[in-house]
This record gives sequence, structure tokens and C-alpha cells, in this order.
Amino acid sequence: MIELNNVSKWYGTFQVLDSCSTRVDKGDVVVICGPSGSGKSTLIKTVNGLEPFQQGDITVDGIAVGDPRTKLSALRARIGMVFQNFELFPHLTVRQNLTLGQVKVLKRSDEEATEKGLKYLDRVGLLAQQDKFPNQLSGGQQQRVAIARALAMDPIAMLFDEPTSALDPEMINEVLDVMVGLAQDGMTMMVVTHEMGFARKVADRIVFMDHGKIVEDSPKEEFFVAPRSERAREFLARII
Ligand code: ATP
Ligand code: MG
Repeated sequence: MIELNNVSKWYGTFQVLDSCSTRVDKGDVVVICGPSGSGKSTLIKTVNGLEPFQQGDITVDGIAVGDPRTKLSALRARIGMVFQNFELFPHLTVRQNLTLGQVKVLKRSDEEATEKGLKYLDRVGLLAQQDKFPNQLSGGQQQRVAIARALAMDPIAMLFDEPTSALDPEMINEVLDVMVGLAQDGMTMMVVTHEMGFARKVADRIVFMDHGKIVEDSPKEEFFVAPRSERAREFLARII
């Protein structure tokens, strides 16, 4: 479903990604972790074309992301992305947030978009909040709306970049529970997170990055029990 082959990227002379290769098969959950500045956000953003890269190739569902002929807007419409800072439109209600992309990008009717949006809002447990504005919701609720909004676009895969790291501790689980449910329903997911409880529960593989390199890409059982690299061992010792 998602495949990265020897992807390298530079910001000027600084190499932020160094020959990164990994894959996410359909229905798999891959968790990406590693120290701050190791390139996790950059890596995940290359997958939907939010960050260009200079070497290697990436395909998503057979579409070559780095090919100049690929319409990135069409690709992005098919891949859901949820960031650290819930990026809801502040001037729109929850319901309007859920329908805007469906109507504008997928050309769905208002009725169809509303029906779909509310279905996913219900799924994240927030149906009663549909007329509120984002600033009237807690951080955890906003993040769940962001996930519902992405799901309403019927994505073929979901990318998450530290979706719980800006949340108060008591709200982290409500967001992780939604993500666990998604994973169990078979969604293809690439998730940057340090929530190792989540990783243990649903990840198929763990990718560990350091200084722009994928240092380790292992089934979770292996990663937690016997990480191969010293850096991963140190990292795990610090966060678990
Ligand atoms: P964190 O855990 O803090 O989110 P990360 O692993 O997501 O870190 P990235 O945000 O991908 O790391 O950044 C990787 C490196 O690239 C960092 O050293 C960062 O300073 C650098 N970097 C990121 N964006 C830019 C940019 N637009 N221009 C130059 N350097 C950048
Ligand atoms: Mg990051």
C-alpha cells in the first residue's frame, strides 16, 4: 500500500532523511518513533507529498508520489492526515468542519456529506457536539473531530503525526482508543507516536529513526523484547 525506497531529503546542505526504506501493507499499522529531530515528521509528510524529497521513490497504492505528473491534491484527498495540533477550521462548526472537504474536494452533496460526517462523528463519540465551534471543545474532543473529518473522506490510509502529544494526560486515552478501534477495523496506518502502549497493542511493526536514518524496522515483538540497536535500547529505556 505505502512503499518507500531509499528516500533521501536535504534542507539546503542538511540531510534530514538518509536513504529511508520501509513499507506499510494494506491493513497494517506501522509506528514510527525516535528522538526529537530524527526526521519522523519529515518522513511521514513525504508520503502524501507535503514534503518533497530529492532521491528515492515513494508509491502509495501504486501512485508514484515523487513523479511530477502525479496530482498531489488528488493523492492527498485519498490519504487522511492528523497532526499534533488539531487543525480544525476555527470559524466553522464541527459539522461544517466535517463536510467542507467532502463537498469541495469529493464533490459530494451537502446531504451526503452531512450523513457521512455525522456517522463518523458518532463513531468518535461526539455526535452531540456537532453545532459547537472548535474552541468550545477540549483538545481531546478536537482531535477526535479531526480524525472523524479525515475518515469522512474515505481514505485508503491514515497518517498520524504525534496526535496525542499536545493533549493533557487525561485526554490522551480517548484519542488513542479511537485509533485502536480504527486499527482493529483494518485501517492502514502510519503513526508517529511515543505512546508505546498503543504500539504494543496494535502496531504490526515499529520503525525507529535516528539522525534521518531508519535504524530499525522490526515486528513489535522483536522491537520491544530485543531491539537491535543501542540507540533504540537507550530510547526505550527512557520512555517506558
Ligand atoms: P520531533 O520529535 O521534535 O517532532 P522529528 O523527528 O519529527 O522531531 P523533523 O521535524 O522531521 O523531526 O525534523 C528533522 C530535522 O530537520 C530537524 O533537525 C529539524 O530541525 C530539521 N528541519 C525540519 N524542518 C525544516 C525546515 N523547513 N528547514 C530546515 N530544517 C528543517
Ligand atoms: Mg515531529
